[in-house]
Amino acid sequence: MKCPFCGHENTRVIDSRPADDNNSIRRRRVCDECDKRFTTYEKVETIPLIVIKKDNNRETYDRAKIEAGVLRACHKRPISADQISKLVDDVETMIFSREEKEISSNEIGEMVMEKLKDLEAVAYVRFASVYREFKDVNTFMDELKKVLK
Ligand SMILES: [Zn+2]
Repeated sequence: MKCPFCGHENTRVIDSRPADDNNSIRRRRVCDECDKRFTTYEKVETIPLIVIKKDNNRETYDRAKIEAGVLRACHKRPISADQISKLVDDVETMIFSREEKEISSNEIGEMVMEKLKDLEAVAYVRFASVYREFKDVNTFMDELKKVLK
């Protein structure tokens, strides 16, 4: 992507997220040459993001699925809707900043856990237990101890 200010070829993406209309991706870019920043909008159709699931099936990326998982984990915890929405925003920024066409559901899960860990211990352990499919109570306790340390 050419810099609109100096025409230099090397620009970097510093932030990517779905635009408000949800049909495009808004990217903040910075020029390596003149350090100026600019925003581009790219049609979602040109960059479909595919999620590779554990069973190797593929489906198109759906923010609502991440949100649903986080909501479940946060059930009856002192976490506001705003905090959840902010967390999903952060995860989405990480996902779209990779600028790749595919992502595994594993990677998304790890990103969510990383963020939940900072937010709320119980919600984190709940999410991790569903996500990592803890086989027994010992694995669960190990994970819990790690968070509470
Ligand atoms: Zn420039």
